[in-house]
Amino acid sequence: MANALEQNVAKRRTFAIISHPDAGKTTITEQLLLYGGIVREAGTVKGKKSGNFAKSDWMEIEQKRGISVTSSVMQFDYQGKRINILDTPGHEDFSEDTYRTLMAVDSAVMVIDAAKGIEAQTKKLFKICKMRGIPIFTFMNKMDRDSRDPIELISQLEDVLGIEGYPMNWPIGSGKVLRGLYDRYNNRVALYRPKEGTEKYLPLNDEGELQVASDLPNDEVYQDAKANMDLIQEAGNQFDLEKIKKGDQTPVFFGSALANFGVETFLNAYLDFAPMPGDHENTLDDEEVQPTNPNFSGFVFKIQANMNPRHRDRIAFVRVCSGEFERGMDVKLERTDKKLRLSNVTEFVANTRENVENAVAGDIIGLYDTGNFQIGDTIYTGKQAVKFPPLPQFTPELFMRVSAKNVMKQKSFHKGIHQLVQEGAVQLYTTYSTGDYILGAVGQLQFEVFQFRMQNEYNSEVVMEPLGHKIARWIDPDQLDESMSSSRNILVRDTHDQPLFLFENTFAERWFHDKYPDVKLMSKL
Ligand code: GDP
Repeated sequence: MANALEQNVAKRRTFAIISHPDAGKTTITEQLLLYGGIVREAGTVKGKKSGNFAKSDWMEIEQKRGISVTSSVMQFDYQGKRINILDTPGHEDFSEDTYRTLMAVDSAVMVIDAAKGIEAQTKKLFKICKMRGIPIFTFMNKMDRDSRDPIELISQLEDVLGIEGYPMNWPIGSGKVLRGLYDRYNNRVALYRPKEGTEKYLPLNDEGELQVASDLPNDEVYQDAKANMDLIQEAGNQFDLEKIKKGDQTPVFFGSALANFGVETFLNAYLDFAPMPGDHENTLDDEEVQPTNPNFSGFVFKIQANMNPRHRDRIAFVRVCSGEFERGMDVKLERTDKKLRLSNVTEFVANTRENVENAVAGDIIGLYDTGNFQIGDTIYTGKQAVKFPPLPQFTPELFMRVSAKNVMKQKSFHKGIHQLVQEGAVQLYTTYSTGDYILGAVGQLQFEVFQFRMQNEYNSEVVMEPLGHKIARWIDPDQLDESMSSSRNILVRDTHDQPLFLFENTFAERWFHDKYPDVKLMSKL
């Protein structure tokens, strides 16, 4: 008989939705919340923008503080499981935090606009999930609109992302002629907008033929879909759970989030295969920390600064990896070896109080932070010290030259910049030629947060000169010759003293390759 902690952990499913802006992430999230019985007015997932908050106490707290916690983690219960959805902001909010959030999930759901196929941001986020080797589930959205050829969509997964697609169902038409889904996983046809009073699902027999009388087999759209499904059955990828677990194969579901078609089928199948929280490596002894270990442990994957000048505090988001979180508990911060009491300064990321009482592996807690935490920090209880692996560094794409507006205030400028860099807010580079500071980020918002916090927390007004998009490539210091730097690249060093070039564009990078064919250039993630 499993103990209470084991039972609780086994219930957890923690994932993020990765997608390109406008693919339908918000729409599908809202549908999922509805299945979880969390009724919100449409638009509240994006409530930060619309200002349309549901009336719960702690949303009010959030609103006052101007920190969007609710939209960062959404928790609900569904069919005996406790589901945590971690938001990965897109649009202008895209930042390194978005990437780091993917370090805190056990699986990912990739939403693709079926009319557009795989888009840029999906590709970037996918890369991180792939690196982690976590299961990835795909939802091909907007089938109520004319879509690309589904066969093309499946092969694109392999060609562009390098992951096998296994269609769990197949669309019968799209747009105006969308008839339904040929659902081979549940062996049934799901009808899109069935006539009132008729069945939503038509059962299939073992041969995949309709078991009940229907006009569908005479419909060309159905015949087409069936022929494709048969072809895929014969010549397509075999369903392979081991590959799915490692992120080498993705189960693919078609549907329409807006029409709430195929979403429930997706959610149920997702829960059949999505993993519960797994082990995490303790780098101090090379052993794995099991989620059911009674000692508490977790790591900080995101620090959200408060943009409200009246509140300097920040929230450190902690992914729980083992044990049980209790209000007021004492933990050790591994980096400093100091004890911290997580008392009433602690806020939880949850939507009801009872969720709060047992935050276990897979759950996310938000700690009000006055400067104790850094990105990647481990906290733990018990005699055995724990340190989780450092969070990876990401290759920045946007750059700014930065300096102090007031040359007399160099001290606060340097203090601020170094603290914010340490915290993971932005990345810092120094030019070889002049020793100038250049900031790197994956999203524009990081610069804005940086500028704001320099002013408000360190009383340092900064001057920022945009350098735009650059391609950052690291070079082996032994191969470096400073004369390799030209007008088409900037030679800088990172905070670990490693040299890298910031290339103007791919053309400049290729030119460099041609000129120095033996020099190996490397990127981070
Ligand atoms: P996000 O940026 O990925 O969060 O995308 P949203 O969920 O905000 O959706 C972007 C737009 O696409 C909105 O206008 C949605 O109403 C629309 N949309 C989302 N899902 C569907 C769908 O299944 N079908 C259609 N036709 N539109 C959709």
